[in-house]
Amino acid sequence: MSLNYLTPEFKVIRDYDKCINCKVCMRQCANEVHSYDEDLGKMVADDYKCVNCQRCVVMCPTHALTIVKHPQVFRENANWTYDAIRDIYRQAETGGVLLSAMGNDRPYPIYWDKMVINASQVTNPSIDPLREPMELKIFIGRKPDKIELDENLNVKTKMPPQLTLNYPIMFSAMSYGSISYNAHASLARAAKELGIYYNTGEGGLHKDFRKYGPNTIVQVASGRFGVDREYLKTAAAVEIKIGQGAKPGIGGHLPGEKVSEDISETRMIPVGSDAISPAPHHDIYSIEDLSQLIYSLKEATDYKKPVGVKIAAVNNVAAIASGIARAGADYIAIDGFRGGTGAAPKRIRDNVGIPIEFAIASVDSRLRSEGIRHTISLIAAGSIRSSADIIKAIALGADAVYIGSAALIALGCHMCQQCYTGKCNWGIATQDPNLVKRLNPEIGYKRLINLITAWGHEIQEMLGGMGINDIESLKGNRLMLRGIGMTQKELDVLGILAAGE
Ligand code: SF4
Ligand code: SF4
Repeated sequence: MSLNYLTPEFKVIRDYDKCINCKVCMRQCANEVHSYDEDLGKMVADDYKCVNCQRCVVMCPTHALTIVKHPQVFRENANWTYDAIRDIYRQAETGGVLLSAMGNDRPYPIYWDKMVINASQVTNPSIDPLREPMELKIFIGRKPDKIELDENLNVKTKMPPQLTLNYPIMFSAMSYGSISYNAHASLARAAKELGIYYNTGEGGLHKDFRKYGPNTIVQVASGRFGVDREYLKTAAAVEIKIGQGAKPGIGGHLPGEKVSEDISETRMIPVGSDAISPAPHHDIYSIEDLSQLIYSLKEATDYKKPVGVKIAAVNNVAAIASGIARAGADYIAIDGFRGGTGAAPKRIRDNVGIPIEFAIASVDSRLRSEGIRHTISLIAAGSIRSSADIIKAIALGADAVYIGSAALIALGCHMCQQCYTGKCNWGIATQDPNLVKRLNPEIGYKRLINLITAWGHEIQEMLGGMGINDIESLKGNRLMLRGIGMTQKELDVLGILAAGE
């Protein structure tokens, strides 16, 4: 066997003054980092296996463990970085495509952090959200060209189907298969209690979750997993998945070993068979084809449900969005290049696509300039980290946002980026029954509710500070943003002024 050139990425430091040899860390680690050395009479760790998921650190009853970046270094080299060299070793060893998970972690600029939010002072005074009503409700779907009222001032106009959200936030598409049953159970129940929506992703709808149908968006992706009339009818909305931010332009692959009895039934594929989503939909090669699928899905759901389209943020996203609006979609979800995933080729995840900040701003501008902005709702996705990011996304033109990684972090994810291995020690990105049960959906759904209500309070405070009492009034209101440390071109694409202007 050839020599393994890879050195460990992390170092497990155990404080032997605190360690009581309880072996909790050994039982908790699916990567088998910890073991008890009978000869030494103490616990030891294999640093090579550690992925820094921090499960052992959190579970250790005496707080004896710390995980640090491994101090072993290469000679300093600005070009041949540690990661670049490691990746070559890995590929020279395996001959395979490098896989990774969660979002793009490269140090590209984060434009959310280069924008600041306005606040009222003296004139147009701020509003105190504790004393005055502050509306966060949002409606997703096509809006009519004009509203007609009858003599009693009731709305006469027949409204296209809408989703009603109590917060401008939804849980992004994450399939059963990429995440666990208990993770889905937590998301579904939280969505119902909050009056928002979660999204099945492309893995079908588990029979146990049909009861959450009124708060469920179901996906129709290129693999058509789990899609039948009942699936479409159970949901509140249907989303055609064309692309996702973590891997624009390519399909997906759930390895056969992860396709258990339960997943096979939900996806409607044989147990143990690979679930491969082709890169394109084999019936969509033009906007006209997309339009046919949109109207087929509307027909199948009696024109009672919004039909949306999810795409990755790429060059020319504004023109693509304009085509999607004209194809008859009710909403478009745009997923930026930091969007998370259970598994993606690392090179694609880290190098393909554009930031969501630019995509939303350019799509909103284009649709407004074409006079069709009201015909479609915009959902921003791809690494929304806080309530401030949401305010900024809406001021740039989004109606609402999707959160995926943030929701998983609320459930306990520690961002080890190893979801594709199926060994998530937090019970989230795994189908191993012993790991799945570590995530208690009774606790999980409450943590999600806490996160969204906390963000709701913060959004109300920021809106009040701007003197705005309705989230709808912030939509596309770019005067409420200013840029810091950006070039004029970047400011122009975002359509905002520099701080001080
Ligand atoms: S969990 Fe903590 S106390 Fe228990 S064996 Fe591991 S390091 Fe020692
Ligand atoms: S979901 Fe689990 S495996 Fe994936 S990054 Fe989070 S902790 Fe790691």
